[in-house]
Amino acid sequence: MHVIPADTTEDVRAQAAGAGPLVAVLPVGSFEQHGPCLPLATDTLVACAIAREIAAAYPAVRLLPPVTVSCSHEHAAWPGTVSISAMTLHAVVRDIAASLRRSGVEALVVVNGHGGNYVLGNVVQESTAEGHRMALFPSAEDWEAARERAGVETSLLSDMHAGEIETSILLHCHPESVRPGHESTDFLADDRRHLLSLGMSAYTDSGVIGRPSLASAEKGEKLLAGLVEAFGAYLSVVTSGNSVASVSSEATVTSGEGPVASSASS
Ligand SMILES: [Zn+2]
Repeated sequence: MHVIPADTTEDVRAQAAGAGPLVAVLPVGSFEQHGPCLPLATDTLVACAIAREIAAAYPAVRLLPPVTVSCSHEHAAWPGTVSISAMTLHAVVRDIAASLRRSGVEALVVVNGHGGNYVLGNVVQESTAEGHRMALFPSAEDWEAARERAGVETSLLSDMHAGEIETSILLHCHPESVRPGHESTDFLADDRRHLLSLGMSAYTDSGVIGRPSLASAEKGEKLLAGLVEAFGAYLSVVTSGNSVASVSSEATVTSGEGPVASSASS
């Protein structure tokens, strides 16, 4: 599956002519250790899988290429991890949003695949206060609903890194990227209150915190389907600026911006 969009400029021109207001979707991944069995690019592959499914389901979405390096400082103890500062990531997202606005795309949804990118919340908070249309997806609530729908057994607290969720999505979208052995690398560390001060290596030797042994491609497919459905409310928020109450009642519409059947639905 493609990570980089294959659109030409003519494709984008045609989309702009045919649809209503466009909403750009920017996947933000990372390049950080994911234990012995998952690639450094796991968060990028996950963010791109979510964004790609969203773009396939909602005609108003313009899919952007991913940001592939972000704020992974807590993983610096492991070889291969590369980070940029929060200030740099802040500037990258702000610059991309400004560029999009200059070309007529007013709304941007950032699809974040890495929990350490706290700064993305601030980017959205500041941008919307200035009157720009922006959102950050998925929220913890969206992940929780998708987790329950997919039958993921590990709680979100326990499934922190390279666990059941990430391994399931990769088994579904990029099975060739999952190395043998993930069935035997489960490790739990629910109390991580000093993570910011001590980094991940204070809590795990392998780099895994979660239960990848429970992962399956079927769970990955259902997780993505749940997130695609949840995205509908975000689309309403950034295109209409409606209140949450009215958005909630609109989230299940099937016309126009609503989700359409895709191969990810089950
Ligand atoms: Zn990850």
